[in-house]
Amino acid sequence: MKSARSYAVSDRTSPFGPHSINRRDPGARDVQFDILYCGVCHSDLHTARGEWPGTVYPCVPGHEIVGKVTAVGSDVKGFKVGDLAAVGCMVDSCGTCSSCQAGLQQYCENNDITFTYNSVDKHLPGQRTFGGYSSHIVVDEGFCLHVPESLDLPTVAPLLCAGITTYSPLKHWGAGPGKRVGIVGLGGLGHMGLKIAHAMGAHTTLFTTSPGKEEDARRLGADEVVISKDADAMKKQAQSLDLIVNTVAASHSLDAYTQLLKHDGALVLVGMPEHAHPSPDVGTLITKRRTIAGSMIGGIPETQEMLDFCAKHHIGSDIELIQIQKIDEAYERMLKSDVKYRFVIDMSSLKD
Ligand code: NAP
Ligand code: ZN
Repeated sequence: MKSARSYAVSDRTSPFGPHSINRRDPGARDVQFDILYCGVCHSDLHTARGEWPGTVYPCVPGHEIVGKVTAVGSDVKGFKVGDLAAVGCMVDSCGTCSSCQAGLQQYCENNDITFTYNSVDKHLPGQRTFGGYSSHIVVDEGFCLHVPESLDLPTVAPLLCAGITTYSPLKHWGAGPGKRVGIVGLGGLGHMGLKIAHAMGAHTTLFTTSPGKEEDARRLGADEVVISKDADAMKKQAQSLDLIVNTVAASHSLDAYTQLLKHDGALVLVGMPEHAHPSPDVGTLITKRRTIAGSMIGGIPETQEMLDFCAKHHIGSDIELIQIQKIDEAYERMLKSDVKYRFVIDMSSLKD
């Protein structure tokens, strides 16, 4: 066992501070790497501040992790010391159910997913998993991703959650040429959704509560921008969209979006707010056979596919690089929708 430096919260209201954690020694199938950059997801905030049930403290968030390999176990085939490696939201799953066998570990039928942080650590009894706001990590090779060398490394980190969480539903629901796709919310997930939907060839419309983001949205790939608080502008979009990916991190009426779907269209929820959305209007759904669905991150093979897609289309995240000492401030800005468009922690700021 080796200790690692980290930043942790000790309860739901305390600020982050330095904290020492244990990491296992690499086993035969493990990859150990020094963390160079870690993205800051709104899920980190939901978890650190106890907005979702089940946070165990101290908690070290971070699941958009890229770094450089420092050790590999004897059975590791795909990584060697000095390689770049990445880890997203999961570090293990049952591996035997049909979902895991199909590479859809996020939908493990035994609910035996080990998330990168705040899960029971199977290797270190009595402790939880700790995420990427830390100096190094040890992960089973099957949950490590290869980083495209052509992309700027700090801009790759957010792909590991924000990228795959939008890529997966866009692909599953067939975003592409001839399809009209809406993205709701221009934050970390939303800006990746715009870039990816545009690269897939879909006509892409951003729905935002922030008029000041319109110009950026067009630069990021939006063909149209609609201010969602403008009732007339929303009305003009009625029955026009095949697919809407909703990334909003707060409770709101879904009816405003279901009525924008064509018949057979789908509103896919990826945002997971602390408080439930009001129950949707059934009439709006049944009269056009519309669907409300949900989607969670993506499996490991699809995450690698997404990284390769992003390399091919020269897509990284638009980031603000921060020192880890600024993490509480970053959370406050995230709550004000004031992120352009993902904070990424430069882990060299995590000094001894
Ligand atoms: P984020 O960077 O904070 O972006 C969320 C965006 O939602 C904001 O930028 C804002 O965009 C919009 N928004 C925020 N509050 C709003 C409100 N009260 N009403 C309307 N719009 C509002 O967050 P993120 O990191 O992209 O994460 C978004 C959500 O997805 C979180 O709940 C997170 O936990 C969840 N998530 C889910 C998965 C999954 O697998 N399904 C994976 C990762 C994250 P505008 O300023 O443009 O309106
Ligand atoms: Zn995330």
